[in-house]
Amino acid sequence: MRHSPLIVGPRPDLAKLSWMARMLRNCTSERYKVNKGRMVRLAEYSRDCLIALREETGIVYADRQKGTLQLFRTQKQVDAADKDIAVLREGGVRFELLDREGCLAAEPGLRGAAQRIAGGLRLPGDETGDCFAFTTALAELARAAGVAFRMGVSVRRLHRSGGRITAVETDEGMIEGDAFVVALGPYAPALLRPLGLRLPVYPVKGYSITLPITDASRAPQSTVMDETYKIAITRLGDRIRAGGMAELRGFDKSLPPRREATLHHSVGDLFRGAADHSDSSFWCGLRPMTPDGTPIIGRAGADNLWLNTGHGTLGWTMATGSGKVLADLVSGRPAAIESADLGYDRYLPATARGRTRPDSLRPAHG
Ligand SMILES: Cc1cc2nc3c(=O)[nH]c(=O)nc-3n(C[C@H](O)[C@H](O)[C@H](O)COP(=O)(O)OP(=O)(O)OC[C@H]3O[C@@H](n4cnc5c(N)ncnc54)[C@H](O)[C@@H]3O)c2cc1C
Repeated sequence: MRHSPLIVGPRPDLAKLSWMARMLRNCTSERYKVNKGRMVRLAEYSRDCLIALREETGIVYADRQKGTLQLFRTQKQVDAADKDIAVLREGGVRFELLDREGCLAAEPGLRGAAQRIAGGLRLPGDETGDCFAFTTALAELARAAGVAFRMGVSVRRLHRSGGRITAVETDEGMIEGDAFVVALGPYAPALLRPLGLRLPVYPVKGYSITLPITDASRAPQSTVMDETYKIAITRLGDRIRAGGMAELRGFDKSLPPRREATLHHSVGDLFRGAADHSDSSFWCGLRPMTPDGTPIIGRAGADNLWLNTGHGTLGWTMATGSGKVLADLVSGRPAAIESADLGYDRYLPATARGRTRPDSLRPAHG
């Protein structure tokens, strides 16, 4: 495809090949159901936590509570939604399967693209917002509550002694602590490898553009997910952000104009005349992706070492719930949702599960 949603870099790379093989093993209906079920559980809980956080703190981040719409351009895509719907039903998630008219009623800005729409799956309970505004505001709240942030400091390694982490070594010295949480996204495996942990987290690159809205009546109301190109087009106040694509190319952070063109194509095709395409900013990021799509949350490698990574394409969606689950576990409280199947243990052979000794921490594959 000229505007492909998936790009695999040609350079052979053992980590990439091993990750892809494990990912492919998860591409069965049975595994999909298990993995999607875990993610829906965590995402639903996260939304509850986010609503509670908003009520408690009044945090503002261009948030909108207008649902999201997965847009299908072909009947084949409409039919394939059956699998998603089964999982949504099982998880008790509200949804609406819409025809073309239904899509236009939910997102009137799509009028100009009506002929290209076959249908859509709307999740009325979904929310959207500006992640940068959210994290910045959250950091301020955390600071006021006594959290010290050390920006621009690099973690070099963890020191372990007698089954416990004693300190984290940084480029600005050692930091001691009672408990340590690794949340380094795709960089987590490198830090944990010397401890015998083989985290199957690979950087999956994505791109986004942000454009000023010039005609609000043609712009999205909320988020429209263009299923054909796997691009999410979101309204952020008076801007549109379009993000997506999955590129497997290691830690490369270059910005090829071809990828930018794909994002412009999707936005222009669905929301013609909504935004100024000549005034856009282009960005890329590396998503920390596990081969089963589910993040890794829980204790591993030492009595006081905790992991919170591998959230892939849904890091913000699952953020508040992941944080809450982890805070509960670190504090010795039971988490409000089932969390045993979110841990690193699921990658270990059955005989090694539940142990934290370094020599038992070899995953079953790769
Ligand atoms: C284009 C694009 C669009 C996306 N859209 C969405 C979306 O709509 N909804 C959604 O839920 N998710 C989305 N995501 C996914 C989301 O961004 C990720 O899941 C999320 O950022 C993962 O968060 P994280 O904190 O685990 O890792 P990261 O965001 O990768 O953060 C890890 C941090 O650790 C730091 N770090 C790494 N190594 C070290 C070290 N040695 N010392 C000190 N610091 C270190 C890094 O600098 C970084 O700040 C999108 C991603 C991309 C690329």
